[in-house]
Amino acid sequence: MIPAPPRPGPAGRRYDRAVPERTIWVIFGPPGSGKGTQAEQLTSALGVPHVSTGDLLRTETESGTPLGAEVAPVLAAGELVPDDLMERVLERRLARPDAGRGAILDGYPRTLAQARSLDTRLASAGCRVPAVIVLDVDQDTLVERLLQRAGEQHRADDNRAAIAERMAEYHDRTAPVLDYYRARDVPVLEIDGTAGIDAVHERILRALASRALIAAR
Ligand code: ADP
Repeated sequence: MIPAPPRPGPAGRRYDRAVPERTIWVIFGPPGSGKGTQAEQLTSALGVPHVSTGDLLRTETESGTPLGAEVAPVLAAGELVPDDLMERVLERRLARPDAGRGAILDGYPRTLAQARSLDTRLASAGCRVPAVIVLDVDQDTLVERLLQRAGEQHRADDNRAAIAERMAEYHDRTAPVLDYYRARDVPVLEIDGTAGIDAVHERILRALASRALIAAR
């Protein structure tokens, strides 16, 4: 007689639970707030890679891919690239093995439509956004930082016109995404980003620990 397959018992259930939960952290902040820098610093505390949509798009333009050629003028004007195109680039990045346990998203979602689309995809994959980190920095400091970066890194969108456009995009289209998360009871951790890199990093860690999102240090 062929033995019946073992019934899933407690051990099986434990195994399921032991599958590492995939977590997608989101970091927000206006251009120049230092979110890319802070996301990079958080990779070791959170154990997942930093995924910057701006960096992904710039890599495409620098490598001269057809997609890069398509988005180059959009980036240079400080406008947003179309959602479907952005999603394709992001999907491809999140499918890489280092993002198996999740990622820190920097630059996505940038609009309500993107936030809804991310939620749908995460829900169907059984993963979630445990918290959203927001860096607050006053406008004068932001413009000063961006113009300084313009002199150092020569990013096509670090000129006064494109900076103004990106700030407007942030206030009009990205800031409302925070209310979307608040309405869904996702903790939105507002951090004062006007300090040195290490001090801001410490503030973020303290905020995460105070919500038990990382172990207290
Ligand atoms: P910053 O936050 O300083 O504006 P990023 O490096 O995050 O810079 O983004 C640079 C540019 O890349 C944006 O101005 C936009 O053109 C494009 N981009 C990045 N993320 C998105 C997104 N989620 N949706 C549409 N466009 C995006």
